[in-house]
Amino acid sequence: MRLVLLGPPGAGKGTQALSISERLGVPHISTGDMFRQAIKAGTPLGRQAQEYLQGGGLVPDSVTIGLVEERLSQPDCQGGFLLDGFPRTVAQAEALDAWLASRGEGLDAVIDIEVPEAELLERLTGRRVCRQCGATYHGQYNPPAVAGKCDACGGELIQREDDTAATVGKRLEVYRAQTAPLVDYYRQRGLLREIDGSQAIERVTRAIGASLGREWR
Ligand code: ADP
Ligand code: AMP
Repeated sequence: MRLVLLGPPGAGKGTQALSISERLGVPHISTGDMFRQAIKAGTPLGRQAQEYLQGGGLVPDSVTIGLVEERLSQPDCQGGFLLDGFPRTVAQAEALDAWLASRGEGLDAVIDIEVPEAELLERLTGRRVCRQCGATYHGQYNPPAVAGKCDACGGELIQREDDTAATVGKRLEVYRAQTAPLVDYYRQRGLLREIDGSQAIERVTRAIGASLGREWR
């Protein structure tokens, strides 16, 4: 299956992506994770992306589209993929469509996870991520078994630099202006699956499964 996870920052895309990609056996491709890894490694891509991530703006399409096309060309994406955080602009969506069409392929569905804005603010400012493996937690809604420690690998849990109140406001603004138009873009193409993301994590997973015609427990 070739899938896109759409939705504002904090909607739960990364959280859901883990179980969806495992259940479907397709790679989870998060452009945000790719940029953060490049920044950590100090690569040329990381140096290009750093200021945009810090400020809560979008990395230019010219950089992002090339990065994703290269990733989708890898052998593990032949049987499908789950994109998380891409596309984020109409230009990126058009480039993805054209790239897939040139291979005689297309998307199967776009899962749009929607959550009211007040809740997004709480989720983002309370989010904690593992410094080592990137797993995501929330102090209140999805706490680790041992405070400050990752359940999966024992790594230290930290706050993302762009999860501060000021940057979160900017990211939500960018979402409304540049990414929200994709909801109509994919609705018009008959691909949109609308999911209520304000439910508990397991219920959201089940709703996503149902929207894909699967029964996930
Ligand atoms: P995104 O990838 O869309 O930015 P995340 O998956 O990182 O969002 O989730 C943002 C925050 O909200 C995290 O702290 C996560 O633990 C929490 N979260 C995710 N899904 C839910 C949910 N259904 N209910 C409550 N909190 C959630
Ligand atoms: P995320 O982890 O999805 O919240 O993304 C974190 C940051 O990475 C965003 O605020 C952007 O600066 C950058 N980013 C991630 N995906 C994209 C994209 N598709 N286009 C442009 N910038 C992106």
